[in-house]
Amino acid sequence: MAKVLNSKIPAGPVPEKWKEYKAHQRLVNPKNKLKLDIIVVGTGLAGASAAASLAEMGFNVYNFCIQDSPRRAHSIAAQGGINAAKCYQNDGDSVYRLFYDTVKGGDYRAREANVYRLAEVSNNIIDQCVAQGVPFAREYGGMLANRSFGGAQVSRTFYAKGQTGQQLLLGAYSSLSAQVQAGKVKLFTRYEMEDVVIVDGRARGIIAKNLTTGKLERFSANAVVIATGGYGNTYFLSTNAMGCNCSAAVQCYRKGAMFANPSYVQIHPTCIPVHGDKQSKLTLMSESLRNDGRIWVPKKLEDAKALQAGTKQGWEIPEEDRDYYLERRYPAFGNLVPRDVASRAAKERCDKGFGVNNTGLAVFLDFSESINRLGIDVIMQRYGNLFEMYEEITDVFPGDVANEINGVKYYKPMMIYPAIHYTMGGIWVDYELQTTIPGLFAIGECNFSDHGANRLGASALMQGLADGYFVLPYTIQNYLADQAVWPKVSTDLPEFAEAEKAVDAEQDRLLNIKGKRSVDSIHKELGHIMWEYVGMGRTAEGLKTGLKKMHELEKEFDTNLFVPGTKEGLNIELDKAIHLRDFFTMGQLVAFDALSRNESCGGHFREEYQTEEGEAKRDDENYFYVGCWEYKGKGNEPELSKEPLEYEAIKVQTRNYKN
Ligand SMILES: Cc1cc2nc3c(=O)[nH]c(=O)nc-3n(C[C@H](O)[C@H](O)[C@H](O)COP(=O)(O)OP(=O)(O)OC[C@H]3O[C@@H](n4cnc5c(N)ncnc54)[C@H](O)[C@@H]3O)c2cc1C
Repeated sequence: MAKVLNSKIPAGPVPEKWKEYKAHQRLVNPKNKLKLDIIVVGTGLAGASAAASLAEMGFNVYNFCIQDSPRRAHSIAAQGGINAAKCYQNDGDSVYRLFYDTVKGGDYRAREANVYRLAEVSNNIIDQCVAQGVPFAREYGGMLANRSFGGAQVSRTFYAKGQTGQQLLLGAYSSLSAQVQAGKVKLFTRYEMEDVVIVDGRARGIIAKNLTTGKLERFSANAVVIATGGYGNTYFLSTNAMGCNCSAAVQCYRKGAMFANPSYVQIHPTCIPVHGDKQSKLTLMSESLRNDGRIWVPKKLEDAKALQAGTKQGWEIPEEDRDYYLERRYPAFGNLVPRDVASRAAKERCDKGFGVNNTGLAVFLDFSESINRLGIDVIMQRYGNLFEMYEEITDVFPGDVANEINGVKYYKPMMIYPAIHYTMGGIWVDYELQTTIPGLFAIGECNFSDHGANRLGASALMQGLADGYFVLPYTIQNYLADQAVWPKVSTDLPEFAEAEKAVDAEQDRLLNIKGKRSVDSIHKELGHIMWEYVGMGRTAEGLKTGLKKMHELEKEFDTNLFVPGTKEGLNIELDKAIHLRDFFTMGQLVAFDALSRNESCGGHFREEYQTEEGEAKRDDENYFYVGCWEYKGKGNEPELSKEPLEYEAIKVQTRNYKN
């Protein structure tokens, strides 16, 4: 029976909600905090910040991660920056404006009150990180510098060159290390959560595998927090780190946690194009480059054909023959339209034959105008490491002069194309970040909470750190206030034994298939299906075909997989097989959600639902809700429940980036 979910948002006008909420907080008695244990799975920006903050507040934290150090969590990949409504530029920014831009950027499918809270705490995050010593870029006078990201007409993105995620993670890591030193955080590196343990309907612990020895271990706590990142790697090729997987989230989903809006997948417009079938990873070129880089394709089809054949180069095409299609279509935001809009526009041009490389699936990102205006030194200061990264991969340095036409210098442009990058969907959480399983919380990219159908650039770090430093440490206390009188359960309980046995049996099953295909070959095929049928342009027919193909491939996985080695000791192939098993569950979930949502919004583009100009066409009358899915067993269709969205402060309207 489908349920209507309640997000537990307190009544009152949106801007007051969070303040009121904090004021009414039932904080756990400080003495009891010392007795309460919390498991935090993940040491990315969300997990590390939460673990450090909870420990600082007095709780005992067990913190797990797959990598050998928290510093190697996927969050270090974040390049461009983190948003906050400081208004250091005096350009009219405010908490309300950041809130409004984020709700609009998410195509009016985010929970309004959550986004307001996010905008409000954004400024605290910057103060926290500066206090930790994060080396944000500064203006000549010492003020923190800002740049712009898509979907905003103000400069509110704080950055540390093109390495913002790494610097923020080092900040969080130092706070975490201080708590490890103080004995309040126990760190379990090279450990992977294999299941969540539910006792009497509440999350009471996890089964984790020591990845080096292969041994399964049981951990119990008063609450479990997962901060395990997104599910972009379901598509095989994505900008995510190779180790990113959605297994922890899928384990929780299988145990009863609802999964929200899985079809909201972000395709980032500025990635290095796919260049062959042997690739296992795609590289992002940060959105920050769109501050100074201009995106174009040729106006004439014959020029595009010559570029594709390699008989002409981009820099040989004069200004008047270039189509800066984003500036043409969206004059108000130009190259800084949100990612979903920019990605679709690139696909539209390439589908029409204007692609600029040998596959026809690339557009130019050109710095000629800005280098001519600002000089190469300024551009290198802003994007030096990104230019070097591009050169390392493609052997082209975007700062090299290539041609001069009528006295104007033309530099070698980058080539870019959209790629899977981020997942807005995730484990459903209420306003307190608690899942549908009491005692189980989800934060950062692995929950669904704040971005709606499309995330604006530089908002993921903001959300992860908001959740970890400022939201969860308050909200989890509402749950723990009642739990303070409960002793931690014993790991000898049958629920722990059963969960461990099931994980062990599953490992045996995978090892004993002894088929012919490697994990990667099947994963790559799944990725092709996802990209082809559940990717940038979706149709009902295509989604049904995709689901059918996924079922067939899953059968192949279950009968013809080959996993070498044993479960004793390190076995990366076995770990990958477990991840792939869960990517199958995830891929099907994305397709079911996409099929049920007969509208286009943000990153979910159903080709049947578009305007004459090719823009996404929402259906607010029928789909103004969060789609929440409940697991119904392998091979069965999950069940959809709905959380109606409620907007009080913002008028829901059609997105407009043209004027
Ligand atoms: C190339 C790239 C650039 C980006 N740039 C930006 C940017 O400029 N600005 C921005 O706002 N966002 C950016 N993003 C998005 C942002 O980096 C991520 O959304 C964010 O870092 C996610 O943080 P997280 O803490 O939720 O998860 P992650 O950083 O993915 O961390 C997940 C953690 O969970 C652990 N884990 C996972 N599964 C298990 C398990 N089963 N058991 C134990 N541990 C587990 C991992 O070890 C890791 O510690 C970028 C993303 C990419 C891919």
